[in-house]
Amino acid sequence: MGMARIAYVNGQYVPHRNAAVHVEDRGYQFGDGVYEVFAVMGGKLIGEQGHLDRLAHSLSELRIKWPLSRAALMVAVKEIVRRNHVRNGLVYLQVTRGVAPRDHPFPVHSKSALVITARKSAPMDKDALRTGVDVITIPDIRWQRCDIKSVALLPNVLGKQQARDANAFEAWQVDDEGYVTEGTSTNAWIVTTDGNLVTRNASTSILNGVTRLSVLEAATEAGIDIMERPFTPEEALAAREAFITSSTSHVKAVTRIDGQSIGNGHVGELTNRVLDAYVEYMETHGGPRTTDTWN
Ligand code: PLP
Repeated sequence: MGMARIAYVNGQYVPHRNAAVHVEDRGYQFGDGVYEVFAVMGGKLIGEQGHLDRLAHSLSELRIKWPLSRAALMVAVKEIVRRNHVRNGLVYLQVTRGVAPRDHPFPVHSKSALVITARKSAPMDKDALRTGVDVITIPDIRWQRCDIKSVALLPNVLGKQQARDANAFEAWQVDDEGYVTEGTSTNAWIVTTDGNLVTRNASTSILNGVTRLSVLEAATEAGIDIMERPFTPEEALAAREAFITSSTSHVKAVTRIDGQSIGNGHVGELTNRVLDAYVEYMETHGGPRTTDTWN
């Protein structure tokens, strides 16, 4: 039934069910690798430049070599989209430091490993996005370089499972000073009682989302007042609206935090405006235009 999914593994296009990397790959041994997730909407790759620039940042901070040139890498990404007939869905790209006998220091000789996969999903459903989700708050137990999109995601995995166990969609992580950093796979936003859109400023404490950047630009263009600063869970609980952003979730309303309703408990008016502005922005620009600042 249907056609077989195809994955890209180190220069080869292989059936997804046979796609494998070596047991001594440092991604497997140490979590020594980085990744990107691109959304595909209506056959178009979203935020291509943003994801590539962030990948460049992650790779250079970890001193992992590019497995291919940027151009060749994008050819492979587009080929995987094409071969899997993805019109709406996700592309997952992972680069590791490659295969070497297990030893902590960087190997003297290594060849970066590259895996690219794609998956179809239902087209963006604005109505579904306008259904609010629950978030919980949890301590942020991650490291001090959350600006690097590392494949080492244990705290994020544990946090997301904690959310699931509490019948919530996402967990907002709270730093030692009592401020929300971000979700486990999304950026966090609130609308204050003054009608200001607030999201944490980019730093080494968060992953600067490509969707976050697009939403900042789209909201600015739509004339919405924005403040990039940290906020506390208490401020979020008292907020008028809240939402999350990511390549997978787009702009998704949050209507409850730690079991308490936000605002009137319904999806906020500004959240709806931001979603509309984001969709229009994607249709016009395909992604953020400022993509050279990653912490
Ligand atoms: N924050 C974290 C920790 C993430 O893992 C992600 C995406 O996976 C995001 C934020 C959102 O980033 P983007 O909008 O680029 O998908």
